[in-house]
Amino acid sequence: MDNQNEARQRVEELSVLLRKYSKEYYELDAPTVSDIEYDRLFKELQELEAKYPELKTSDSPTQKVGSSSERKFTQIKHKSRLYSLDNTYSYEDLVQWYERLKKNYGLENPPALVCELKIDGLAVSLIYENSKFILGATRGDGVIGENITNNLRTIKTIPDKLKNQISELEVRGEVFMPKTAFEKLNEKQREQNGKLFANPRNAAAGSLRQLDASVTESRELSMFSYYGRLDSKEFNIESHSQMLDFLKSEGFNVNPAYKKCSNIEEAIEYCKYWDTKRSELDYATDGVVIKIDSFLLQSEMGYTARAPRWATAFKFPPEEMSTIVKNIEVNVGRSGAVTPVAILDPVYISGSTVQRATLHNFDEIKRLNINIGDRVLIKKAAEIIPKVICVTEHAQHKESSFAPPEFCPSCGTKLVETEGEVNLYCPNHLGCPEQIKGRIEYWVSKDCMDIDGLGDNIVAQLVDREIVKTPADLYKVTVDDLLTLDLIAEKSAQNLYSVIQASKNPSLARFINSLGIRHVGKETSELLASRFVSLDALKNAAFEDILDIEGIGDKIALSILDFFSNSYNNEVLKELDEYGVKPRNSEIVSGSDKLKGLTFVITGTLSDTRDKFAGLIKQNGGKVSSSVSKKTSYVLAGENPGSKYDKAQSLGVKIINENEFRQLIGE
Ligand code: NAD
Repeated sequence: MDNQNEARQRVEELSVLLRKYSKEYYELDAPTVSDIEYDRLFKELQELEAKYPELKTSDSPTQKVGSSSERKFTQIKHKSRLYSLDNTYSYEDLVQWYERLKKNYGLENPPALVCELKIDGLAVSLIYENSKFILGATRGDGVIGENITNNLRTIKTIPDKLKNQISELEVRGEVFMPKTAFEKLNEKQREQNGKLFANPRNAAAGSLRQLDASVTESRELSMFSYYGRLDSKEFNIESHSQMLDFLKSEGFNVNPAYKKCSNIEEAIEYCKYWDTKRSELDYATDGVVIKIDSFLLQSEMGYTARAPRWATAFKFPPEEMSTIVKNIEVNVGRSGAVTPVAILDPVYISGSTVQRATLHNFDEIKRLNINIGDRVLIKKAAEIIPKVICVTEHAQHKESSFAPPEFCPSCGTKLVETEGEVNLYCPNHLGCPEQIKGRIEYWVSKDCMDIDGLGDNIVAQLVDREIVKTPADLYKVTVDDLLTLDLIAEKSAQNLYSVIQASKNPSLARFINSLGIRHVGKETSELLASRFVSLDALKNAAFEDILDIEGIGDKIALSILDFFSNSYNNEVLKELDEYGVKPRNSEIVSGSDKLKGLTFVITGTLSDTRDKFAGLIKQNGGKVSSSVSKKTSYVLAGENPGSKYDKAQSLGVKIINENEFRQLIGE
């Protein structure tokens, strides 16, 4: 990418995506992309920022340590910062990292390394004073963590007291849940109809951040310690390997697989060995951490904003596992597309149990030559949904043979092919129950009308009993209707009814997104909402007006026109309006001089893009600057603020949050 404008746009796009994925991963415990995909985008952003340093901001995802922003416990500031790790999936990069260190620090002899398994859990910091464990915290954003001392005390592999008399020691390690404990916990959750955890890492995170320490205690957590910081020099510890031995002698659980290596080639051998052996371990490991052994060299090399220079992580490629195809099911999506899905004998792979894998379309089935009963290789590819890579052994019996369906498995309508597309479609858009369910599930989902509590099971019952056929029907559902459904008690029926009614006035962007217009997703909906401001204006928009929006091309514009010229869609829109479902018009902030003479600096993650806030400041007569000085009037700080926050504090510049800012502009 040579053009700076293009690069700017891509940097912005990548930052938005990475923030979204981090939120899903750290806060919602529900990632929607695989780690390999996240890491690929992260690397792309790092490379662009290296090429165009002026595009790098202190609140870029590359400058942050990711954390959950949910605040359940008291916050504490770490004595020294906890970092993340740079990572790579390639041996070539490891060699380059090592050679670069040698060159940059003028090392004639290859520096010794320590290789450790990278435990896939949760980083914590433990403080010991006068040999006693007194404080334990989560990593948080690296500077501020949460005080979870009581919960950590329940973990048997964390000693309460040290063996020697030590005035102060900080130990860091990874809290994890063994795979067997994870399976046991999910089994129990299943029996009690509780929430299932997606993988041992999520289970460990959820268990460690419990307000009731006795719940943590019941969860069989453990910890491997991989870092120690002593204030006194009396133990003569000069290297990481000596520190690990010291921690062991003080009663900490140090992973026995660590190995001192004299050069990067030995480290690569270590990575290769554990890549083949990792599935035999009772804990999840997603790679190897390679650290420079000498403390003296470590302190010379120091840290970047996010990670130590003296360490790096080699990440294992996603695991491939073999299993049997028990069945091939056919799914009907909300648009009528019919897609085959392989139903598998459950296998544990790269952090979760897999029971279904997409087969994309019927051409893919032919290409793979796959049949029910075949043994296949499964991999979690760039997408989080696993895929079938190949058949390794065909089933013996031929009666299992699979043929694409002629009729819709949901409504029995003859399927059709659409020119230029590989999918088969069910043309019965208005009557096909699976399509209706798909549309309603989409309508109530988080990025659309966000009707919490209306899960797939309830939607399925409402559609199957013909109470609901269109999104508009949802708003005439009564408490009595809900009480006729299985497993709904009076209180939840009341709650659900209230939540549906309370959802009637979404933002215009959400409403547009909920309509499920082909090719129009969340981002396009936002563009349309800010351009047209009201639903009526969008409905009456001409082709050219829509096309005029940057980022919207012919295909999308046509699809929008199509949608609003369809009489059935207009009927549903009219009914929605009659039931009081009215999107709020987008805000047009008219100019004011409320911020006249004031200069703002923006840092951290806010509820919208920084551009949006910069726009609000300018509309109200203020100025935006990129660096903090004594002349700065306010620093507007969001989540995980960067160094600008620290600078504002040291200069005594007033720091305000988003709410305070909105008050300033009279919102
Ligand atoms: P990380 O997990 O890649 O590496 C840093 C962490 O490794 C440390 O904080 C420590 O907790 C841990 N660790 C485990 N064993 C260790 C050892 N022996 N020595 C030192 N540290 C050890 O980094 P992170 O900042 O926690 O998370 C970033 C990663 O999380 C990304 O690279 C990505 O893979 C994943 N992620 C995925 C998504 C997604 O949507 N899939 C989103 C955000 C992050």
